[in-house]
Amino acid sequence: MLAYRHAFHAGNHADVLKHLVFTQVLRYMALKDKPFTLVDTHAGAGAYSLDSKEARKNAEYVDGIGRLWGRRDLPPALSDYVAQVRQFNEGSTKLQAYPGSPVLAMQLLRADDRLRLYELHGSDVPLLAELVAGRRETGVMQIDGFTALRAELPPPSRRAVVLIDPSYELKTDYGQVLAAVREGLKRFPEAVIMVWYPQLQRLEPRDLVDRLKATALSQAKKGWLHVRLSVVPPDASGFGLMGSGMLVINPPHVLHGMLRAEMPVLVEALGRHEGATFLLEKHGG
Ligand code: SAM
Repeated sequence: MLAYRHAFHAGNHADVLKHLVFTQVLRYMALKDKPFTLVDTHAGAGAYSLDSKEARKNAEYVDGIGRLWGRRDLPPALSDYVAQVRQFNEGSTKLQAYPGSPVLAMQLLRADDRLRLYELHGSDVPLLAELVAGRRETGVMQIDGFTALRAELPPPSRRAVVLIDPSYELKTDYGQVLAAVREGLKRFPEAVIMVWYPQLQRLEPRDLVDRLKATALSQAKKGWLHVRLSVVPPDASGFGLMGSGMLVINPPHVLHGMLRAEMPVLVEALGRHEGATFLLEKHGG
């Protein structure tokens, strides 16, 4: 039984970082006149009302997208990401809803690009299926996304983007991410793979990042890029989420320059303590 519901966290600082990178990678993929396949191994419900009792419980979005929503002075990629959220809010001046990765994908994919969405939670799957109903080249599968990935690669057009975004509510998720990436790259070393992870005072996330970097260097065509946004001070319990990171394998070459220019703006906008900061590094490519 899965306890994690993304509705409690939609639009928080972790979603902002993830979806900033996600939208820019999709923009880059769409520059080339050849369709690609997007595989979202952990798709969630697809979209979230910020008026729901789940979203209002801790109102995490207030310190995430809420801090960017009213700003008109953002640099290009952040501004583009916020514009995607505005598009989903249909021009409303009030932030009412937050688009998950499937909706952002629907807004950015071209008609011939394939969208493959995996989600296990029985309550989220019907919501997701309803949201994407009517889009061609789209599948919603209630199957374990980790193991499904291997069957998706290589895709028919030999252009693939993968988002691996588990909740890590199970400790085994860390090992499963690594195994899925290794297997995926074995089948298709050109895949652009984005892995989100939580920044915690624990060993597992750091260990995962190190292993993913090593995997990318030995199996991927164009190395890796790593970005981490740290905005919340460590709490006394040692269990709180301090920030999050994205490891991008075979990253678009423009991603590093964009993040170098725009991450300081994100730190300034979302930072909740003096030690708020970011890390940006890459290798290969
Ligand atoms: N990617 C989404 C977005 O950016 O809007 C958010 C995904 S949320 C962090 C993680 C989701 O993974 C949850 O909805 C959870 O039910 C689902 N999940 C957990 N284990 C899974 C598995 N093995 N395969 C597919 N989905 C899974």
